[in-house]
Order: sequence, then C-alpha cells, then structure tokens
Amino acid sequence: MNPFAYPAQPHQRRHAPRGYARHESFRDWLRDEFAFRCIYCLNREQWVNAKGAFAIDHFVPTSINPNLGLEYDNLLYACVACNLTRGNQLVPNPLEHLLDSTVDVMADGLLRARSPQAEVIVETLHLNDRAYVVRRERMLTLLADLEHRRPALHAIWLGYPEDLPDLGRLRPPAGNGRMEGLEQSHYERKNRGELPASY
Ligand SMILES: [Zn+2]
Repeated sequence: MNPFAYPAQPHQRRHAPRGYARHESFRDWLRDEFAFRCIYCLNREQWVNAKGAFAIDHFVPTSINPNLGLEYDNLLYACVACNLTRGNQLVPNPLEHLLDSTVDVMADGLLRARSPQAEVIVETLHLNDRAYVVRRERMLTLLADLEHRRPALHAIWLGYPEDLPDLGRLRPPAGNGRMEGLEQSHYERKNRGELPASY
C-alpha cells in the first residue's frame, strides 16, 4: 500500500451541504469527502497535528469568481503548504487529473506526471520540490520498516483519524443535495464495521 498513490478513479462527490455563511463550516464535510488528506500532495491528518495544518481550498479562486466561495462543489481539502503554494493560480481539476494512471510515485519520492494536466498541477504546486520529495521518500522508507517490525504502529500511521465527523448530526442551512452520501461517510462505515483498518 503506497499512501502517495493517487486515486484510481476521478472523485465523485458524495456530499452537498448548502447554505453555510462561512467556508469554515464546510470543513467536516470536506474532511470526510477527501478522506482526511490533502488532495494535492496526499499528506494526511493522521501524520500531523491536523489543527491548523489543513485548509479549505477553492478550485476556482474567489479572486476570479467570488460567487463560488461558498459552493461546496468548488471546495477542496488541502494541506496549508499546498494551499499557500497554489494561491490564486488556476490549475486543471486535481480530482480528475491527479490519478494513479497519470502520476507515478517513484521509490525516491519523485512524482512523474504522465499527462499534460498532471504535469501542470505538479509544477504549479511544486510537488517535486525537495521538501516534498524528501518527505515522501522518508515516509515510504519508514512505513516499509514499520510494516515488518511494528505492524500495529504501521496500521496507526495508515489508519483513519479517531475523530471521524458524524455528518448526520449537522444541519446545513439550505439542506444537503446528496443525502444518500451520508451512509457512505467514514463515520457510518466505521459504525457498520465496513471501514478498513488502513488506507
Ligand atoms: Zn498538500
């Protein structure tokens, strides 16, 4: 299991909360939607002190279209480093273009983009800067070691955070356009015993 491997398929949104007045109110929905990790670099909440380390990223920046500032389908979950690096730059949609089939993760930590769109994202987000590459390589080495010597610890590092949000208790002011997605939330899957120990 390579935690830096991008998803096999383009992301299909499972939630659609509406009507919040602040983008911060979407945070728990986005945490669940994007599996508690940065959509650009795949850094995980479980690896850091998540408080303050993750940001709500606007796919279309609000400087370009302020009307999309509170539109759920325009919101992404990203680590603060990626969010700051991206700034107000437009990029191809990472949910469609950062995929297992378009980005190879090399053992030395480098990413090799295999599509023009993935290349633009990797370049714009500086995902092959030394800090990212070194961190990726160290994490892969560490996890490979733990897998053999400390499997319980390995499972924790690749596991879900303990504070899975109970989205069914939230009441978006203008409702939820994808109610059926609640059943697929990590919280509900864990309650049903369907959540894998690691991912
Ligand atoms: Zn990131």
